[in-house]
Amino acid sequence: MFTNLADGRNNANRQCDLLILGAGPAGITVALEAAAKAPGLRIIIAEAGGLEPPSADELALYSGESAGSSRYSLTTTRLRYFGGTSGHWGGWCRPLDAVDFAARPQAGSTGWPINKPELAGHYAAAHRWLEIPDDNYDPDRLETELRDKLIDFSSSDWFQNRLFHFSPPTRFGTRYRDAIEQSSSIECLLNAAAIDYSYSANRLSSVRVGGLHGHQLDIQAGRVVIAMGGLECARHLLLMRQRGWAASGISSAKLAHGFADHFGLRPGILQLQADRIYQRTAGSQGPVMPIITPTPEALSEQAWQNTCMLLDITPAADKLPSGYTSHQALGFSGEDTWTYSVQMILEPRTNENSRVELSGQTDALGLPKIKLFWEIDPRDYQSAQNVFTRFTHEIARMGLGRGQVKPLDITLRQRSANGTAHHMGTARMAEHPGEGVVDRNLKVFGTGNLYVAGSAVFPSFGYSNPTMTIVALAHRLAEHLTDTG
Ligand SMILES: Cc1cc2nc3c(=O)[nH]c(=O)nc-3n(C[C@H](O)[C@H](O)[C@H](O)COP(=O)(O)OP(=O)(O)OC[C@H]3O[C@@H](n4cnc5c(N)ncnc54)[C@H](O)[C@@H]3O)c2cc1C
Repeated sequence: MFTNLADGRNNANRQCDLLILGAGPAGITVALEAAAKAPGLRIIIAEAGGLEPPSADELALYSGESAGSSRYSLTTTRLRYFGGTSGHWGGWCRPLDAVDFAARPQAGSTGWPINKPELAGHYAAAHRWLEIPDDNYDPDRLETELRDKLIDFSSSDWFQNRLFHFSPPTRFGTRYRDAIEQSSSIECLLNAAAIDYSYSANRLSSVRVGGLHGHQLDIQAGRVVIAMGGLECARHLLLMRQRGWAASGISSAKLAHGFADHFGLRPGILQLQADRIYQRTAGSQGPVMPIITPTPEALSEQAWQNTCMLLDITPAADKLPSGYTSHQALGFSGEDTWTYSVQMILEPRTNENSRVELSGQTDALGLPKIKLFWEIDPRDYQSAQNVFTRFTHEIARMGLGRGQVKPLDITLRQRSANGTAHHMGTARMAEHPGEGVVDRNLKVFGTGNLYVAGSAVFPSFGYSNPTMTIVALAHRLAEHLTDTG
């Protein structure tokens, strides 16, 4: 059932068992999964926006200051209405690699408190939520004509082929609207942004919701899940700290530090066998995108950060100088080749300096705005450059082609970096308080009833887009909340 707070018709205070703040992929998955698993549970979703895309005034509630060495848009990288940012996401999907969960100093990570096998069933569920029929990411099972267009890495210890899949993309606000509407245990309050919090000892006792329309009400809940996206999550936990709540996760030095987004690097060009396909393409089970990644062994031996490579076909003018391609003795004639520009997606290293702060300015609802410092560690670029350099050696060794590595100007790269709207790391999951903000069950350390869903909890980031893992973790959280209800 939906109730629009802006109508002003049914604005009595509420009580419920489970309150979810935010109706993006994370919040909607938690709500519908919890309702399915525990039919008697009284669930409220408080969603800041309505059913239609936000007006300029509503989106301005996300505005703030970008103060880091890399610029960042706080408004165009997220949406504020029912369905959240899935209203314009691209649908690129891939689970994290097993290695991404491990402690890796080169990624600035002490590791996740859970491993990939623990998420297996939840990733399977996430494929259903994201409407991806195929959860096999091994390119060996692709049909022959596609497989034949990939580089044969069977003689390489360094590199391997992998895949992305694509969600249609699922727009959670339209795809799951009827399910929320028809649910007898979920009430979704629209135009109901969380704007204030009361706590008592270790429990969040009540949340005030309101909007630009001026109506407000209080909600008391047994348990509360913050599912507002990775930036608002940090903002609201900082707001709770500002209100004096000293629960260990909220007063943690890690809170709002370690903000990360994925970004790219074009490290150079390749002259390589013609007709290689490392771009989105139609597979028999749906669209796929082959990628090239270092093997887990190479990642660990070389202490590289994780990364993947896509190949774009470039105009002939970009061809390598003939000196690169004329070494017949090395088995590469340079004939029947194409020139490709390489696009890498990099794993950002956790950087404590990259952070969200509350600024001195307030938004139209009276909440302090965000001041974001997006700081990219220079080693991120160097690691990627090292991977690509090694890749050019490897394709030369295999007699497949040649590559040219472009000079790397890290300061210029940092200044011109573009994020990909993946807001991660601001409320890290950890085994122990002091190492992070939430525990392995996503409960904020030191609190009795406050949880976080979303990519804020990622303690490291891999190169995979986050929504598949967000939904898998949301599925796992719903199971935990209902099992321990
Ligand atoms: C252009 C674009 C392309 C993208 N492409 C991809 C892609 O291809 N693959 C991928 O994996 N990811 C992609 N993403 C990222 C993806 O959209 C997010 O990872 C995903 O939407 C996060 O889900 P979420 O539920 O955690 O947060 P969101 O989707 O941001 O939802 C948060 C919800 O909380 C609500 N909210 C905010 N503040 C409050 C408040 N105070 N009280 C109550 N509710 C509140 C918001 O209105 C919103 O509904 C893309 C993002 C963008 C912008």
